[in-house]
Parts: sequence; C-alpha cells; structure tokens
Amino acid sequence: MDTIFGCTYMVLAPEHPMLDKLIENSPDKARITDFVREVRNETSLERVQTTADKRGVFTGRYVTNLINGRKIPLYIANYVLMEYGTGAVMAVPAHDQRDFEFAKRYGLPIEVVIDNPDPSSRGAGGGEAISKAYEEDGVMVNSPGFDGMGNREAMEAIADHMEKKGIGKRTVHFKLRDWLISRQRYWGAPIPVVYCEKCGMVPVPEKDLPVLLPEGVEFRPTGESPLKSAKDFVNTICPACGGKARREIDTMDTFVDSSWYFLRYISPNADDRPFDTTDVNNWLPVDQYIGGVEHAILHLLYSRFITKVLCDMGYIGFDEPFKRLFTQGMIVKDGAKMSKSKGNVVSPDALIDKYGADTVRLYTLFIGPPEKDAEWSDRGVEGAFRFLKRVWTLQEIMEKAPETGDADAKDALLRKMHQTIQKVTEDVDGEFHFNTAISAVMELVNHVYTGLNEKGEECYDKACLKQVIENTVLLLGPLVPHIAEEINERLGSKESVFCRQWPSFDKGMLKADTVEIPVQINGKLRGTISVASGLAQEKVQEAILADGKLSAWIEGKQVRKWIVLKDKLVNVVVG
Ligand SMILES: [Zn+2]
Repeated sequence: MDTIFGCTYMVLAPEHPMLDKLIENSPDKARITDFVREVRNETSLERVQTTADKRGVFTGRYVTNLINGRKIPLYIANYVLMEYGTGAVMAVPAHDQRDFEFAKRYGLPIEVVIDNPDPSSRGAGGGEAISKAYEEDGVMVNSPGFDGMGNREAMEAIADHMEKKGIGKRTVHFKLRDWLISRQRYWGAPIPVVYCEKCGMVPVPEKDLPVLLPEGVEFRPTGESPLKSAKDFVNTICPACGGKARREIDTMDTFVDSSWYFLRYISPNADDRPFDTTDVNNWLPVDQYIGGVEHAILHLLYSRFITKVLCDMGYIGFDEPFKRLFTQGMIVKDGAKMSKSKGNVVSPDALIDKYGADTVRLYTLFIGPPEKDAEWSDRGVEGAFRFLKRVWTLQEIMEKAPETGDADAKDALLRKMHQTIQKVTEDVDGEFHFNTAISAVMELVNHVYTGLNEKGEECYDKACLKQVIENTVLLLGPLVPHIAEEINERLGSKESVFCRQWPSFDKGMLKADTVEIPVQINGKLRGTISVASGLAQEKVQEAILADGKLSAWIEGKQVRKWIVLKDKLVNVVVG
C-alpha cells in the first residue's frame, strides 16, 4: 500500500479465472496459452523459489492505477500463484526483488518511492540504475501528497485517502492451506461423505459416525487413494435414498486429529460426541504448550484455526487453544543434531543403568536454558551424579552433627538456604529455568561442605542441618523425584515429598549476610571493610582497628570520634 505510487505494472497468476476472457480476442492468444500451459507444469514450490527465473507474458491489456490514474500493462507471470490473495498483484519493482528481476528482464519501468538512506545505492541515472530492490522501511518519495512521511505512517494515510475517495478499502486476508483435507493415502480419518448417482454428495448421518478405515488395504504408492481398492468400503448405499452410492476415498491428514485432540482428552469416554462442551470449558484452554519450533507453523496454526471455528460455532467458549507457548531448544552432540544416521544419539537407557534415572534427569535439566540448543557432555552426566552423592551424604553428616554449633555459621547457612528457596521458586515457576535453579541448590550444598571444611566438622548443629536438608529435598523433588523421596523418608517424614508444601522463604533472611562498608578517615575514603550485616558499632570499630591497611591511617593518632552509619559508612575523625 505504501508503495502504490511505484506500481508500474500488474501481474495475474496464469490460473486466474479472468484470463480466458481477457485474451479472448488477443492476436497473441496462442503464445499466451502456451505460456500458461508451460507454467502449469511447474510446482508451486518451484515457482515461488527466489532463485527461480521470473518469466511472463504481456496480455495486451492495460489497467489503471487508481491512485494516480496511470495506465499500466497487465502481465501474466510464473511467480504469482492463485493460492495467494486474489491471484492478482501490483508489481513494485523498486521495492520487491521478484518484481525487480521481472521488470529488468522485460524492460518495465522501475520507480523508487521509498528512499534508501544509503546514498551508494543510488545510481546516477535515477530509478532504473538501482542494482536491487529496496525492501526496508524509509521515507516516501515520488508519492504526491505523501512525500516525506515514514512509509509505515504513509500506509495508513494512503488507505484513509483511498477510502475517502472511494477507490479502495482496507481488508484483512487470511490464508490457510487446505492440504489437511483430501490426501491420497491410507492413514488418516476417512472423510464422512458418500456420492449417490441420484442425490450427489451426501454427508454420512451422525448415527453412522465415525466412518472407520477398512483394514487389510494395500497402501503402496500408486498415485491414487489406496482406499479405492477396498471394494467393500467404497460400495455403500446412499443414506438419503437407499440407492447405490460410493464412499469418498480420500482421507484427512493426521493434522486434522491433532488440531483438536486436547478437546477429546477432556472427554475420552463420550461415545456419542467428540467432546463435552461443559467439561471442555471448565478445563481448557491448555495452560502451557511445550513443543519444538517445527510446530510453530503447522500444528499451532491448524489447532488455532479449528479452535476459532469451533468457538464461532458455539461448541466451545474460548477462541485460543493454548494460553502459553514454550519452544524448547535441541540437544546437540559433537556439534550436530542427534540422529541415528550420524550415530551420535545418546541412549538414556544405558545412562540410567549406569547412574540411575535421577542423574539423567538432573543432567538433562541442568544442561542449559531450555529455550536454547545445548551440547550434550558425558562428563556433565558424571558431575550430576557426583552432586547427588553429595546431597545423599548430607544426611550422614547431620547424624554426626552436635546439638549446638557455631551461631555465625548457622546464621550464614540459613540465609543461604532462604536465598536458595527464593531463587529456585522464581526460576522454576513459569520460566522453566531449571538449570539456574539446580545451580542455586548446588551452591547451597557447596556452602555446607565449605563451612565444614573451613569452620570445622562441628560448626553446624543437627537441627539446622536437618532444616537445610529438608528444604533441599523439597526443592529437588520435582527434578530428581526418586532420591528426593528416599531422603525425605529417611529424615522421618510420613508424608511423600510430593504431598508436602513447597518451601517458603523468610524475607528477613534474604539480605546478604556480609556487607562492604566504605571507611573514611577525616572524610577521605581510605578503604572498605567487610563485616556481617547489622554488626554492632563496637564490633565494626574493632574490625577497622584490626585491618592493617586502615589502621595504618589511625596509628599514633588520637581518635576523636567514630561516625558509624549502620551497614553503610564509617568515618573516623582523628587528630
Ligand atoms: Zn441417494
């Protein structure tokens, strides 16, 4: 629409129904008909390939570009398909590469109407000198009344103008290929239609549905519907007049079924109808769709289409089948997509035999953000196994722990635990970031082991460790169910880990356990001190005096005043 002033010729698809009439009296009729016959031998795919030769023939007719009253030639071309829109397109060679190639070949005018901001693209001789079509956004030129506007803005302005003048109106075109219906193959649902010599096409009445596929049919490719050979199936009687009739022998593609199976899942026992509207409206739409990117243009499109139709017909009360879409990445190994032919497929069975199902689950979830492709690593599996062993051993450590431990160590560990609960809760809820959730639990477990190493084996008391293990197990439950359930039971829980409440975190415990406080001496920043957050003033003073670098500024002088802003700043006034 924005490029309408640059339309220098029109093209019809060779299959266009108006063509015969248009060329009826043309002296060139034979040549045009030959061209049409030739193009019809090419597949749609061949014709729309960008590399394909753009060929066409002039019809001898002209049409008027209503925006500027200009008379422009009407062509037929192989690159325009009847399946797209109306089978008639305005050609704008300066801004569409296919039109550009076609115009070059047949010497048609090329007129720039959206300015390419790159000056090197502009040839000295005006429009014809451009070396390829400019298909991006830009500023309008050579479009009287709209020059200087951005092309997006001009689209609306031109549509307004044309509607006001009564030479055009806005419409939306929907396009869905109908290849789901009428496949010449065996598998797929039969189309419930019969053909009667007297009554014509008659739908199979509801009481006779579903029409089942006949068995024992030869379905080697012959170019014809395999059901044709199943005489018992084909020959039937007309539901309307009782006379001889034939069944439809094409089938529906399996996509027809997969486009609404989620409705059937709600009512698997409804024998007299596809689904129960009340139940379906109670349970659906589907909360979460998870699939590979290959579904984005087929399954999602068809299921949305069918849902919208069923909604319009009043069978269901929603017009989108899925509330949320998540597209997962692929697992690659040795740089290639796993495939049997490449011999780089990882067998989960072998890994499960060696490490157990939990390890394989954990590693698969840990491998990376689920929306991204990820590289499989056998060493990574080993790492996941080691981590689970460390989780398992925590319980033995707890059994040997003292009743009372180090208060600071306990405080730091519990802070870490609450931070971990918060992180995992946020990461797994909705975003599926299991990898970072697992990473957080690993940090928590490491914190325990590091503490034991650095502060001694008696640093954590038994109750504190038990609390940490319990929460670790609850957080890991959905990810590694078997080991989580086992540890949960060994801790004495009577309730399955899956029936227990998801852990909650204490907001007051989320703050970092240590803070970096800037230290000034007489108002000048001389360094920082790292202390436990909320530490009392005397303790902060002690820490500063014990710090070699900071105390050097104070040594030999009289401290006149300590100015301490808790957790924020210390200023020592000396003189
Ligand atoms: Zn009949």
